[in-house]
Amino acid sequence: MKILVAVKRAIDYNVKARPKSDGTGVDLANVKMSMNPFDEIAVEEALRLQEAGKVTEVVAISIGPTACQETLRTAMAMGADRGILVQTDDEVQPLAVAKLLQALVAKEAPGLVILGKQAIDDDSNQTGQMLAGLLGWPQGTFAAKIDVGEGTVEVKREVDGGLQTVALKLPAIVTADLRLNEPRYVKLPNIMKAKKKQLDVVSPADLGVDITPRLKLVKVAEPPARAGGVKVADVQELVAKLRNEAKVI
Ligand code: AMP
Repeated sequence: MKILVAVKRAIDYNVKARPKSDGTGVDLANVKMSMNPFDEIAVEEALRLQEAGKVTEVVAISIGPTACQETLRTAMAMGADRGILVQTDDEVQPLAVAKLLQALVAKEAPGLVILGKQAIDDDSNQTGQMLAGLLGWPQGTFAAKIDVGEGTVEVKREVDGGLQTVALKLPAIVTADLRLNEPRYVKLPNIMKAKKKQLDVVSPADLGVDITPRLKLVKVAEPPARAGGVKVADVQELVAKLRNEAKVI
């Protein structure tokens, strides 16, 4: 069985994102970019399945500008067998990503597609669900554990108040949550090896997908600054403030 893993190049999770002064987006000038953390978890899970002998090939896919090749090389240094870049400098929203992945699924015929549960730049949490919808495949989102059996995959999902277990027929879509695994560190010799692995570049037009945005970004702004706290002398004062000022009791 082949696994496709979607890896997005996103603002590094250690960087404090700042809106551009004109509010048209997030300022990405000279900002460190990395693989979206949930996608590292997705790659790790695919590799563990391969190491367990359940998977024959792991293919990483990234959609975006040329710089996404770095993200694919990172996935290949972790252990992915090859990479596909769907290259575009245009904005690609979740529905367009899902349609591009759908086109690649038609070409590659994987048994499983693993995505991150969400990209930490747009926080959409939509792509995996949309891809499952487009393909008519079962989905196990927010996976904390997966077990691949004969023609099935069992996914433990993180839901409010606990874990829900679903059994899906393959082929299926899984999105990775934080507790699924701890991704491996990339070793230097593997970075060198990854440079030689196959990386194909295609365009959205090659895949016959129209990526015109459907959503309009109205404005990006900092959240309002939090007002400072105050110390109260005793419980009576606290209760009075909650009643008269905060009006919550
Ligand atoms: P989102 O729906 O934008 O929060 O993204 C959910 C997941 O979809 C990410 O964790 C990735 O696995 C995948 N994804 C989204 N955008 C891209 C992209 N441009 N290239 C590759 N994978 C992506």
